[in-house]
Amino acid sequence: MIRKDADWAFQQYEAVREVLPKAEFPDTSRHARNLGELAADFDVFLLDAFGILNVGETAIAGAAAQVAALQAQDKRVLVLTNGATYPAELALAKYTKLGFRFALEDVVSSRDALAVELRDRQDGGFWGVMGASGSKLETVPAATRLLLLDREVYDAAQGFLFLSTTEWSFEQQEMLHASLAANPRPILVGNPDIVAPREDGLSLEPGHFAHELARDLGFEPQFFGKPFTNVYDLAFSRLGEVDSSRVLMVGDTLHTDVLGGAAYGVKTALITDHGLFAGREVAPYISKSGIQPDFILPTT
Ligand SMILES: [Mg+2]
Repeated sequence: MIRKDADWAFQQYEAVREVLPKAEFPDTSRHARNLGELAADFDVFLLDAFGILNVGETAIAGAAAQVAALQAQDKRVLVLTNGATYPAELALAKYTKLGFRFALEDVVSSRDALAVELRDRQDGGFWGVMGASGSKLETVPAATRLLLLDREVYDAAQGFLFLSTTEWSFEQQEMLHASLAANPRPILVGNPDIVAPREDGLSLEPGHFAHELARDLGFEPQFFGKPFTNVYDLAFSRLGEVDSSRVLMVGDTLHTDVLGGAAYGVKTALITDHGLFAGREVAPYISKSGIQPDFILPTT
């Protein structure tokens, strides 16, 4: 049994590095105590959710007050999340319950980035969806059917949307593998994450299953969300005119948040005390990957 910890996740991301965006990084990182110390240097803060705002169903201590303080200084604060299980409305309701004050347009999700692509792609037929029963597929701008255990649905789909693994089984993954092996079709991945930290360890996310199929069947899925450009394009489309040197991406992962921000040409900050690297020394991961953030902060 492979223990799926931060080391395992790190190796998985490094193994697919060639399909991730390329970026340039600073030689060293500056250390600060929290985002408040960086407020004067930036106008826009793009915040990852898990590890920055919350861990599971709990707000990170002080995070809501920090975000409110930035907002009170007229800083624009957006949430940039790879969550695709639910529409942004439900993510917003969760952040609001945890004490954050965001408007709906402040929440930019990988699911929204995927929706932009789907609106331009009226191929006819329907998409088979790796999703959850609560995924509200009626809000996806295309014809869809949830993938369960009916092989005919897999075979009839024009392509596949990967939104959520919360109800995905290895039996379903095998069925999808067999259907794609017989008839290759496009896969659009609405959450490129390989793992997500949960209360009881790391869960395997849509990115994991997409990379596995890509490796086994030799094709290239299309990814929507961090570290890829499309979700940053969507965020910037909501910002209007901004000086990108005064935009900071803040996250708890190197291969999604820091790599994605650097590839897009904005400054990056890694939060170390919550999320993926909680309880670990981050320096070895930074030197092994070469993914160097501009700033390192213990907390939001
Ligand atoms: Mg995170």
